Amino acid sequence: MHTDTQCVHSGSYFEATTGGINTPIFTSSAYDYLNREDPPYPRYFNTVNQDVVVKKVCALEAAEDGVLFSSGMAAMSTAILAFAGSGDHVVLMDELYGGTHAFVTDAFEHLGIDYTFAQTSVAAITAAVTDRTRVVVIESPTNPLLGVVDIAGVAEMARARGITTIIDNTFASPINQKPATMGIDIVVHSGTKYMGGHSDLCCGIAVTTGDKAQTIRHMARHLGGSLNAMTCYLLERSLKTLALRVRQQTANAGRMAAFLAASPAVTEVFYPGLEETPGHAIARTQMTGFGAMLSFELDAAKVSTDTFLRSLALIRPAVSLGGVETTICAPAKTSHVKMSPEERKRIGVNDELLRLSVGIEDAEDLIGDIQGALEQATLSSG
Ligand SMILES: *Cc1c(COP(=O)(O)O)cnc(C)c1O
Repeated sequence: MHTDTQCVHSGSYFEATTGGINTPIFTSSAYDYLNREDPPYPRYFNTVNQDVVVKKVCALEAAEDGVLFSSGMAAMSTAILAFAGSGDHVVLMDELYGGTHAFVTDAFEHLGIDYTFAQTSVAAITAAVTDRTRVVVIESPTNPLLGVVDIAGVAEMARARGITTIIDNTFASPINQKPATMGIDIVVHSGTKYMGGHSDLCCGIAVTTGDKAQTIRHMARHLGGSLNAMTCYLLERSLKTLALRVRQQTANAGRMAAFLAASPAVTEVFYPGLEETPGHAIARTQMTGFGAMLSFELDAAKVSTDTFLRSLALIRPAVSLGGVETTICAPAKTSHVKMSPEERKRIGVNDELLRLSVGIEDAEDLIGDIQGALEQATLSSG
C-alpha cells in the first residue's frame, strides 16, 4: 500500500457485531481472564484501540511493532530508559526538543546515566561516542532551528558499534521522512503534533523492530504512560487524514519560506527547503518533503517583534505545533524557556527567533496576514 492508503486502511479493525466501518471505542479496563491467555489492560499496552493506532503508525514508518503513549515525552523517556541504565553513556544532539533536553539535564545524574551533547553532524556525534555509549538520540529537522543531520550516516556509525539509535521524527512526520528505512532503530513521535493534527489531544509513540518494541513495552509497563481508549480513537481518526494535511502544510510552508526569505524585514529564515539553508543538501536526500515548520528572525532595527506578534489576525501566537491552524511562537519564551540564556545562545536560539507551524489554510491568506502585521510593526525611521 502507498502512504495515503496506509493512513486510511492500515491497522483497521473489523467490527463483526454490526459491520460498522470504524473501530469501536472499547472502554473496559477489566477483561475476562478465564477464556483468554493475555487479557488486555490499558497499562499493558495491549488493548484494541491502542493496537490499531500502533499498526497504522508502524505501516507509515516501515516499522514492525511499537508502543503508544500518553505523551511524546512518555515515549521518548521510556524508550531511552529501556536501553540505557546506571553506568551507561548516552549521546544526544545539542539541538533537541527542549523537553528532551530538560529530561537529560534534570534526571540523568539521578539515574546514574552519563551523557554528552553533540552538534548536529555525524562527525560530532561519532566523536562523542565512548565504549560505554548504549544509545544515540537524534532529531532532524531540529526544533526550532530546523537543523538537519545525515540520518543514514548516524545509523551506520551506531550500528557498527552496537549502539541503539533513537530519532525524534515529530517535525518531519512519516509523510516526509521514514528514518527506519535509513537504519534508525527506534522512531519516536510526539503524536500531539502532526499525528493528532487538530491541537486537541496529547500522545506519543515509539515504533521499532519486534524485539526492541518488546523491550520498550517491558519498561513502559513499569512507568505506565498509557493512552486511554477515547484519545486512541481520536488519534486513529486523525491519522486517516495525516498525509492530506501534511502535504498541504508542507506546500504552504514552502511558499511562506520563500515569501519571508524575500522580505527586507526578515534577516534570517531557517527552512530545509531553502537552497541557501545549510541542511538543504542532506534534507533533499532523506526527506520527500521539507516539512511545515520554519523559523525566522525579524530585523530588530526595522520592526518590533512584539508588535508583529500582536498584529497578526489569522496566525495565532500559541505553543505547540502541527495543527491544521497556523501558529507562531518565540521558542526562547516557550519550548526552550527552561534552558539557561547561555545554553540558548550556544545553540543559536535568539530572543527574536520566531517559529512558525504552518497549517492547512490558503497560503495567500497566511502571507497576507504576515504582510499586514509587518506593516503594523514597522518602526518609523524618522
Ligand atoms: C512536543 C514535542 C515533544 C514532546 O511531546 P509531548 O507530546 O508534548 O510530550 C517531543 N519532541 C518534539 C520535537 C516536540 O515538538
